[in-house]
Amino acid sequence: MTTVITRIPPSPTGRFHIGTARTALFNYLFARHNNGRIVFRSEDTDKTRSKKEYEDEIINGLHWLGITWDEFSRQSEHTSRHRALLEKLINEGKAYISKEQSKNDSSKTVEIVRLKNPGKEITFNDIVRGDITFDTTELGDFVIARSLDDALYHFAVVVDDMDAGVTHVIRGEDGISNTPRQILIQEALGAKRPAYAHLPLILDEKRAKLSKRSGATSVMDYRDEGFLPEAIVNYLALLGWNPGGDREDFSLTELVDVFSLDNVQKGGASWNRDKLLSVNQRWMRKLSDTEYLVNIKNISPNINSFDETLLTKTVPLLKERARTFSEALDMLSGELACIFTPPKPEHDILISKEPDNARGATQRHLETLISKIDSLPNEAPADIIKTTIMPYADKEGRGEVLWPLRYALSGQKRSPDPFTLIEILGKDESVKRINTSLAILVNNE
Ligand code: GLU
Repeated sequence: MTTVITRIPPSPTGRFHIGTARTALFNYLFARHNNGRIVFRSEDTDKTRSKKEYEDEIINGLHWLGITWDEFSRQSEHTSRHRALLEKLINEGKAYISKEQSKNDSSKTVEIVRLKNPGKEITFNDIVRGDITFDTTELGDFVIARSLDDALYHFAVVVDDMDAGVTHVIRGEDGISNTPRQILIQEALGAKRPAYAHLPLILDEKRAKLSKRSGATSVMDYRDEGFLPEAIVNYLALLGWNPGGDREDFSLTELVDVFSLDNVQKGGASWNRDKLLSVNQRWMRKLSDTEYLVNIKNISPNINSFDETLLTKTVPLLKERARTFSEALDMLSGELACIFTPPKPEHDILISKEPDNARGATQRHLETLISKIDSLPNEAPADIIKTTIMPYADKEGRGEVLWPLRYALSGQKRSPDPFTLIEILGKDESVKRINTSLAILVNNE
């Protein structure tokens, strides 16, 4: 059996787009699943639009996702090979030089190269869509090079794929209309026709083609927002491919094991940010607490000023709530900020839930709670703390007891429940905070 060879041929003319990542991933999965090879080719022949910084971003981004290849080249390195094959086709009478008026300057003539189009019907089999037939007559003798040293895109792609021995061309649906021209060039060159698989378009939530207007389209924006590469890979794999069954969580290695082009869908694949967020949260939860914190630090070194022990104790709360690391960061300076900074409670809020004799009752509750907390073992977990406090709260009124407790601990109207706060803060700090509130009550008569 011949070795499967796929290709990842991005054009470095823009940022690392989600669509580029999805296509690269499918080429990677298909090749690795079949013990094949992957050829990376930077299609940098558009000199005005190609930029080194985009190429770097795409390469770094693919590596960040874990996508690797076996061969690397740049299309611009193949110019002399393109020229040699243009000359060969001309010598064989399969292409010809045509002297034409320059499009940019009508006083000049240019020598462009056109393919002699036999003008026949071409049918190719698409692994995703079945047979596709085109009548190529109307393409006429289309241009394949602006000059012998400037092959056009279709010619360059066909030569490069042929030279790399590409067996499978897996690309976006917008490549379908390019295929008949490329097959005509292959036939003129005597190249073997690769198998084709055109992946469904990625649509935004309004069913339009995913574009900048639909939200972030650069993979790096997702990285900077605190998405995990595992989550992006997992989510991208499900964009147009169906693993069959209910399972949704796949690592890159697991995807390699199960991937098949047979399960690629024809219809457009919808981008759904909420789904991506929940996939990301599941991958975030799989991290150890230390790894979790490293990821938050990667997006903001500011958290180095936070108390490390408290931070580690807060990770379970973050795992429960945050769907990205930037959400986690916002929580640390929002509803979880009270863990790191002692609160400044206000007298009227402390007793706001109370009816008559509010101050006296609140004072009594807080004093009782202090003795209950004092009686706890050190490092008691939230459920033990809850069992110690709840009977009292049930007897005296949950709101009356738990509100001032939570507020005394946090100084915030929104915060985690008081039992979790006591667990994280520890006995001493909790008692200290409640005493501060008691002093406020007493001094504000
Ligand atoms: N360089 C092309 C692109 O980025 C690749 C097209 C192809 O796969 O043939 O769209």
